[in-house]
Order: sequence, then structure tokens, then C-alpha cells
Amino acid sequence: MKIIDGKKIANDIKEEIANEVKQIIEGGGKTPHLAAIIVGHDGASETYVGHKEKACTQVGFNSTVLRFEDDVAEDTLLRRVHELNEDSDIDGFIVQLPLPKHISDQKIIEAIAPKKDVDGFHPVNLGRMVIGLPAYISATPAGIMELIERYNIETSGKEVVVIGRSNIVGKPISILLAQKTNPGNATVTITHSRTKNLKEVVSKADIVIAALGNAEFLTADMVKEGATVIDVGITRVKSDKTKSGWKLLGDVKFDEVAEKAGWITPVPGGVGPMTIVSLLQNTLKASKREIYPE
Ligand code: NAD
Repeated sequence: MKIIDGKKIANDIKEEIANEVKQIIEGGGKTPHLAAIIVGHDGASETYVGHKEKACTQVGFNSTVLRFEDDVAEDTLLRRVHELNEDSDIDGFIVQLPLPKHISDQKIIEAIAPKKDVDGFHPVNLGRMVIGLPAYISATPAGIMELIERYNIETSGKEVVVIGRSNIVGKPISILLAQKTNPGNATVTITHSRTKNLKEVVSKADIVIAALGNAEFLTADMVKEGATVIDVGITRVKSDKTKSGWKLLGDVKFDEVAEKAGWITPVPGGVGPMTIVSLLQNTLKASKREIYPE
């Protein structure tokens, strides 16, 4: 078993981005600027936005966080999104999900100008990705592709099984790995909560991507000897062994699956750190007008 070290790759990429930002600024260019909208005081959302702000500082980006109370009207939020669309100093922005129930996540996502949608959630970016046009690719699938590429894991002609069909992970990673690209060219099966014989399907896979959000679901008996196992899941559980009183578990029963796997991502330290770095990469692309030239 060999560990895919997402933390290390994420740090390498941050260094690469920081160097590029330095060169841009030395050449008289504009500092890339990421904005985030956060509504309410959800602990997990606060943590994610905090991590994103810190990562921006690390690579030399400007970052702005716009905070709204839980009871903000949908119209107010939509107005703010339109203002950010027009603000030439903001290269890209994200709206931290989920939003309170009285606000439609989809309506807000669709109000974001595709050229500033660095989360890659807008249907235009998703659609462009599906037909192989340049697009912002959502952070988690982009991070997984980067890990596969940097570790030279062969995907061409391989059997990939993705567990989970969410719009932000399962569906996009399935499409990316099936595309005529490198990495890509895989034979991909998407599985979900209604899949029958999941164990049988997964046990044929050369590469398994577990993104279902069910702690330690994937056990060694489900995995083929030598398979690559990418664990996307993050479940926070109580622990008396950590200072914080919490620990993070992935969707993979790490110790036993690691014995059988060829390559495996740990949780934490695998896909998680790559997600934030992908957002930085998208913001850098936005600042360079790489996807949508003007
Ligand atoms: P989701 O919660 O929207 O959907 C889960 C999917 O798993 C569904 O499509 C469902 O059909 C499938 N599923 C549920 N139970 C199943 C079962 N028993 N067998 C087969 N399929 C089953 O998914 P999401 O938003 O993609 O999140 C999945 C996990 O990934 C969560 O733990 C989430 O916290 C984590 N996540 C991590 C990152 C990261 O940066 N590492 C990013 C996004 C999500």
C-alpha cells in the first residue's frame, strides 16, 4: 500500500501558485481576489470559509468575506451576487452552501456570472465541462484529478467505480474520468443508494472513488487487491483521543482497506486539502481570464 499524500501535493501547489502570484505582481499585474458569501453561523461553513481565507493569504491572494444573518432575504443576497458579478476587482467568488431553507441554493448559483463561478457549480460551467470545453471544474473533483495526475496513476482503460452521484462530487468526477483526456479514458460506473450488488460492482474496480458520506462504509472485502482507493467522505465523530474532542472519518475503513489497496488517500490529509487548493487554482485562472477571455 502506498499513501496518496494530499497534504503534501496541496502544499506543493500552494507554493507554485504563490510563485506565480509574485511574478504577476512584480510584472505590474493585479493581485488575484477571491470573495466568499457566508450566510448564518453554521460551524462547518465558518470553518470552511476560514480555511479558504487562510489559504488565500498563504498564496498572496486578496480575500473578502461577506457575511449575512440567517434571516437575510433572498433578494438581498441576489443583489449582492449581481454586484460581485460587476465588481472588476473581484476575480471570482463563492457562496458557501447550504443556505437557509427560505433561500434557493439553485437560484443563487444560477445568478453567479459563469466567468466568476470559481466553485464550478453554475450549469454553464458544468455543461461546458461535460462537452470538454474549458470550464471551472468544481473543487473536489478537480482535486481528485490533480492527485491522480501527480501520482501518475494510470486511468486509461481502467475500471472505475464511483460511489455517490452528487452534483458536486460523484457526477462530475465520473464524467471527468470517462473523458478522452489524460487522466481519463476510464470505463466508469456510477453507483448510488439504489445500486444492487454494490459489493460485487466495487470489487471489480481498479479505482474506487468513495463519496457517499457514510463513515467507514468501504471495507476490505469490497476492494480488489491492488486497487486505488480515493476517499472523499468526511464525517465528524466524537473522540476522547483528540484535544478537540472530535475526529474525522472517511468513507473507507482505512486500516483494513490500506492492507489490500495499491494506492489510498487518508482522511484527513487526502482529498480534503486538495479541495481548497483547487479553488485557489480556479481563482488564479479567473484572474488571468483563462477560461473566459475578455
Ligand atoms: P451527498 O451527501 O450529496 O450524496 C451522497 C451520495 O451517496 C448520494 O448520491 C447517494 O445516492 C449515495 N449513497 C448514500 N448511501 C449510499 C450507499 N449505502 N451505497 C451507495 N451509495 C450511497 O454527497 P456529497 O455532497 O458528494 O458528499 C459525500 C461525502 O463527501 C460527505 O461525507 C461529504 O462531507 C464529503 N465531501 C468531502 C469533500 C472534501 O473536500 N473532501 C468535498 C465534498 C464532500
